[in-house]
Amino acid sequence: MPTLRFHAIKETFDHQPIKIQETQKRSEFYAENVFDENTMRQYLSKDAFLGVKNAIEHGTKISRSIADQVAVSMKDWALSKGVTHYTHWFQPLTGATAEKHDAFFEILGDGFAVEKFDGGQLVQQEPDASSFPSGGIRNTFEARGYTAWDPTSPAFIYGTALCIPTIFVAYTGEALDYKTPLLRALHAVDDAATDVCKYFDKNVKKVHSSLGWEQEYFLVDKMLAASRPDILLTGRTLLGHSSAKGQQLDDHYFGAIPTRAFNFMRDLENEAMLLGIPVKTRHNEVAPNQFELAPIYEEANLAVDHNALLMDIMGRVASRHNFKVLLHEKPFAGMNGSGKHNNWSLSTDGGVNLLAPGKTPMSNLQFLTFFINTIKAVHTHEELLRSSIASAGNDHRLGANEAPPAIMSIFIGEQLTKVLQELEGVTKGKLSPQEKTELKLNVVGKIPDVLLDNTDRNRTSPFAFTGNKFEFRAVGSTANCSNPMTVLNTIVAKQLKDFKAEVDKLIDGKGLKKDEAVFNVLREYIKSCRPILFEGNGYGEEWEKEAKKRGLSNNKTTPEALKGRISKQSLELFEEMGVLSKIEAQARYEVEIEAYIKHIQIESRVLGDIARNHIVPTAVKYQNVLVENVKGLKEIFDKDFKKVAKEQLGLIQSISTQIEGINVNVTNMINERKIANQIEDLEKKAAAYCNAVRPLFDEIRYYCDKLELMVDDELWPLTKYRELLFTR
Ligand code: ADP
Ligand code: MG
Repeated sequence: MPTLRFHAIKETFDHQPIKIQETQKRSEFYAENVFDENTMRQYLSKDAFLGVKNAIEHGTKISRSIADQVAVSMKDWALSKGVTHYTHWFQPLTGATAEKHDAFFEILGDGFAVEKFDGGQLVQQEPDASSFPSGGIRNTFEARGYTAWDPTSPAFIYGTALCIPTIFVAYTGEALDYKTPLLRALHAVDDAATDVCKYFDKNVKKVHSSLGWEQEYFLVDKMLAASRPDILLTGRTLLGHSSAKGQQLDDHYFGAIPTRAFNFMRDLENEAMLLGIPVKTRHNEVAPNQFELAPIYEEANLAVDHNALLMDIMGRVASRHNFKVLLHEKPFAGMNGSGKHNNWSLSTDGGVNLLAPGKTPMSNLQFLTFFINTIKAVHTHEELLRSSIASAGNDHRLGANEAPPAIMSIFIGEQLTKVLQELEGVTKGKLSPQEKTELKLNVVGKIPDVLLDNTDRNRTSPFAFTGNKFEFRAVGSTANCSNPMTVLNTIVAKQLKDFKAEVDKLIDGKGLKKDEAVFNVLREYIKSCRPILFEGNGYGEEWEKEAKKRGLSNNKTTPEALKGRISKQSLELFEEMGVLSKIEAQARYEVEIEAYIKHIQIESRVLGDIARNHIVPTAVKYQNVLVENVKGLKEIFDKDFKKVAKEQLGLIQSISTQIEGINVNVTNMINERKIANQIEDLEKKAAAYCNAVRPLFDEIRYYCDKLELMVDDELWPLTKYRELLFTR
């Protein structure tokens, strides 16, 4: 009797919904544990407050004396809330968040003890971080890493620790984290977009990039999850026959949320609220036990931090509700995978969304400028954008007949397609007064401020315009949003910079009026980036063929896709925009390719173990039961025995066939792994894992899943799909 599975199932009967008290309005405790502007006004002197505010808004340096004041105030505030420790909170290249807690507590000599925290400790720390991946940048002897305060993301309290968001860089200056290049990219897009805005509004001083993420996830009972070694070690099921009932009835999507999950969500949302994460939307997703959570969008750096923080607290809150959160892109074969849509837009310090159509022809020309430049940026750098979302987990979605495809394309809807078609016809050079009037009144002037298409969206598109923002849907559910946000903002920054140069050239060189010049450049852009626009079904085979004709990339696996990160074009782009030096970009590439290799290696080992040491012995055990049965039948029936024992004999034989299938393929897989492990070159090694090791997963799984349908349920050791997916 496989005790663990049945023990786990029995335990789930005791897992009742946990009661959640909600007596206060959310607005009353929103950001209560954040050292935000409101708190700072109460705790800081005027000088200190202005110092921090200037740093946030204009990137000015914070002096040591101001930092000291801020530190003391932060400490006082934190102590008043029962906090004992502080930590620099950062996002190393592992993708997770990192923290190392130090107590405020200090001994002064003479036996006196106090709570202390000064500006030095606030501004900079040196965590012993030699075990974080650096892609070879940080040799422990040459260059240690340090964390430095990022005042643009406010400190917050989690548990009994004051967490201070920081960047993580080597002493030689190279970024060792996700936040540093993101901040650089946001700076680049601010500069470039502000310059372009000035064509339309001289008063614009700053442009923010906004991000609104939508996080999909699965909830599985904690005990059931613990009973599966694959979930425990890889975050997904490596085998398991599909459940008779899955998502085919579409009865989960937007359905009533099961009580236990509902209470988990409320608990999580309350925690998020305290931390200033403005969570807003919750609903069931397509697959059973799959859900989604989305906040109100925020400034991109803050939103990225909030998503990283949320993914972390999700796990902790889930545990209280006897759940395990699965953030993996594909926890269950045959079920919907999980993604993280990144809704992105740009807005001015005056609060104007640059990707929202306006009410006047001028504001619409501004909208079209940013809209078309974004399209052009994505077209020019589609391979780099694809690389920004590459991971072993996301390979199960992209390019695997699931939403969305690995081919980057943009959906803009019927109305805007028409607008672009009309703009394509704009005369070259100077425009006649009639044409200008016609353009302003009937093309630009007629863009409705509510675009109908955004309700009728093409769900198969990886990058869709949804009325007042672009939605990048191909991001993986486990991903740190920094990578895609860094790339998106960098390519748009570069594109806007080039646009500005081209428009200025027409104005200064050819004597064109500003709007004539803008129309002229946009017209050429529309012509050149037509291949990236696609309104059809992104899942079909026809699109793959069509995309190839259009010259779009279709990088289905991580090793292929990651190459887009270190192409000559990408390296030059990162360098020109001041986002990543060649060394940094190369190092990141190495970190990610290595992470890919390790993921596949771990999955391969776990699968080999489960198949050989759990499944095969179980199959043999059941086969022995059948053998005993057949022996008994032979004793009783003698001559007629073959007829009576026909099914059993067939089963015995079939079990042997499956066992053979497992063993042969596991042996092959181990051999392929050995060959791959000998390869020094990372790129070739990753290719070996991808093309020689990984395909054997499906083979092994095929035989294991067949056995699941043959072997006595009482003997089966692994918790089944129906149990994992329908226990709630
Ligand atoms: P969906 O139907 O895809 O769930 P929603 O309209 O609910 O789309 O919005 C999804 C996300 O888009 C939310 O997180 C929301 O905050 C965000 N969002 C809305 N407007 C913007 C914007 N201008 N910039 C960035 N994100 C935005
Ligand atoms: Mg969405």
